[in-house]
Amino acid sequence: MRGPIYKPKGAAAEYGDYAVNIYTGCPHRCYYCFAPQVLHRGRETFHSCVEPRRDIVTELRRQLEREQITGQLIHLCFTCDPYPTGYDTTPTREAIRALKEYGNHVQILTKGDGSRDFDLLDGEDWYGITISCDGAMAHGMEPYATTVGDRLYALEYARNHRIHTWVSFEPVLDPEAVIGCIKHCAPFIQKVKIGKLNYHPSDINWARFGREAEALCQEMGLDYYIKDSLRAEMDKP
Ligand code: SF4
Repeated sequence: MRGPIYKPKGAAAEYGDYAVNIYTGCPHRCYYCFAPQVLHRGRETFHSCVEPRRDIVTELRRQLEREQITGQLIHLCFTCDPYPTGYDTTPTREAIRALKEYGNHVQILTKGDGSRDFDLLDGEDWYGITISCDGAMAHGMEPYATTVGDRLYALEYARNHRIHTWVSFEPVLDPEAVIGCIKHCAPFIQKVKIGKLNYHPSDINWARFGREAEALCQEMGLDYYIKDSLRAEMDKP
């Protein structure tokens, strides 16, 4: 594939077959953000220089036409947030419009607020948020993202618009908060993906957390996916 739509590899492939990254950076400044390493950019540059990638919508439309990409579920985004707080997110809106014009659907994942685009989404699109911890901890760990409460409010609002909703619990900073959130969110989400905290030291008992989270999802009838890195901990003897 040549263009903004690409096939993620490795752990990212557990989130989707296709993805598009719309912005060059992200202002949310999550302490655990992996994107600067992936992009070989300095952390400060990544968090302070946030622009739409050059000609992103034009290039997206060209690729859709040239490669006739249709009928796919396309993840937004891996190396940035599709709704960077405090920035104009019209490029995201235009990207969604282009992808859907060609018969694709989108799987959004954000710590911002995507509700401005709910009018573009339908019952085969997915709106998702990331939750790693409770609101108090998030204030320190994800200082410029929207609050956990606002993310949940947008998620419920999306469900009221009959959009599929999902939550990514990765990275996990506070297992108890994640378990509590699964219980709280179950009535208005269709799917959860659960991982762990990678690339940072932690004394969390991942096997116990993973088993508890899986049992809870089963009890609540939730569609769930345990990321390979967490599953490996759960499978240890
Ligand atoms: S929202 Fe995502 S891309 Fe943005 S700083 Fe946080 S982890 Fe990085």
